[in-house]
Amino acid sequence: MARTDVIVLGGGIVGTSAALHLAKRGLAVAMVDRGGVGEGTSYGNGGILEGNTYFPYPFPTNPKTLLRIALKQATEANYHLSYLPKMLPWLFAYWQAGRPEHMFEFANGMRPLFAAANAEHELLMKESGAEKYLRKNGWLKIYRTAEYYQKAQSDLDIIAKAGIQFQLLDQAGALALEPNVAPIFSNGVFWPTAASISNPLAVTQAYAARFAALGGVVLKGDARSLHRANDRWRVDTDEGPVDAPQAVIALGPWSQKVLDPMGLKLPLEVKRGYHLHFKPRGNKGLSRPTLDPEVGYLVAPMEQGLRLTTGAEFASVDAPPTPVQFDRLMPKARELFPLGEQIEQAAWMGARPSFPDSRPVIGRAPGLKDLWLDFGHTHWGLTLGPVSGRLLAEMMTGATPFCDPAPYQAERFL
Ligand SMILES: Cc1cc2nc3c(=O)[nH]c(=O)nc-3n(C[C@H](O)[C@H](O)[C@H](O)COP(=O)(O)OP(=O)(O)OC[C@H]3O[C@@H](n4cnc5c(N)ncnc54)[C@H](O)[C@@H]3O)c2cc1C
Repeated sequence: MARTDVIVLGGGIVGTSAALHLAKRGLAVAMVDRGGVGEGTSYGNGGILEGNTYFPYPFPTNPKTLLRIALKQATEANYHLSYLPKMLPWLFAYWQAGRPEHMFEFANGMRPLFAAANAEHELLMKESGAEKYLRKNGWLKIYRTAEYYQKAQSDLDIIAKAGIQFQLLDQAGALALEPNVAPIFSNGVFWPTAASISNPLAVTQAYAARFAALGGVVLKGDARSLHRANDRWRVDTDEGPVDAPQAVIALGPWSQKVLDPMGLKLPLEVKRGYHLHFKPRGNKGLSRPTLDPEVGYLVAPMEQGLRLTTGAEFASVDAPPTPVQFDRLMPKARELFPLGEQIEQAAWMGARPSFPDSRPVIGRAPGLKDLWLDFGHTHWGLTLGPVSGRLLAEMMTGATPFCDPAPYQAERFL
């Protein structure tokens, strides 16, 4: 093969964005995935570009919610009992991260990434011809009861002080935005500066096509073959071995499978999630992603239909799918949303690659020469892929990073 400067392992939205940013800076990049570009977790998400995120999703503390989850009756979460012992330290750390001081640490550390995220996507969309997938009409949260809506207010006060825009709506206000939602709720919160994507797979593929147009090479291969050879990184691909002085791990939920054997143990776990597509009932669609936070699922209009995505399932990344949350939540979802016929029989499953503090790692791999990390974007990998790719490429090329990368260092876990 011709000279390669960087091997990027993983062709999800995160790896593809990093590869594209590196190629834009003149580096010769080979991106290696075992499957098709964008067909992992990046395929099936809710499509929201949530640049207005301020606080992470905390571990539930309400005893009633915890009991429902424990009894496997919760709509918003599920777990595999056999996996809990392995996941216990992570769950404990995740629970601790819900303390106010850690919530603010997240908010302050992540704000530069979130604040730049949507604009970075738009730049890549423009140059990749992917703008047709972009909807700049925000997203909506629907609160079924006034009580649940009131509970959200203290966080919203803080978010307003941080200068993030949202609009508090009564039922009529929310119905003016989404007239096909049933009037069985109390209030809404509209996030006007958020955007969404009507086909996340197509967007990742468009970025990969732009990467290829800049001379980037996309190869099939198993990232677990990564090893040192003659002071370089080498990976085996269908086209033969590829060597480069630098490599990037952007394997999302599978990233630790390459790092564990190298002795770099980071606390990465997954929050699995599922989706199903539905035909709209009659011609009653939705204009934007709409969340039912009390029940814990999202309905987003996609090219494939109305996509219903579930909350978190705590289980091993490779365990067989157990989409039991649909049985629990479908009656609730059908009463609120205009969901017609189910399009596919089997639910799609993905896995949000998650650290307990909900921040990704972006930067050098501690103790591993010329190896870089870009993974762990949990609920916001679609949003943060391009901005993370930019930051990583700036660090790798010795440019001044556009923000302080310290909050994303892997060293925080060591
Ligand atoms: C139900 C659900 C809803 C979501 N909704 C949103 C949303 O609305 N907005 C948002 O911003 N985010 C959302 N997310 C999160 C987002 O989808 C993820 O954070 C993001 O897709 C992670 O991207 P990634 O590139 O890191 O991982 P992936 O897309 O999983 O990419 C990893 C790649 O690594 C490859 N790979 C794995 N192992 C190997 C190997 N051994 N060799 C070679 N290649 C390998 C895989 O084939 C894959 O292509 C959602 C996630 C889920 C599950």
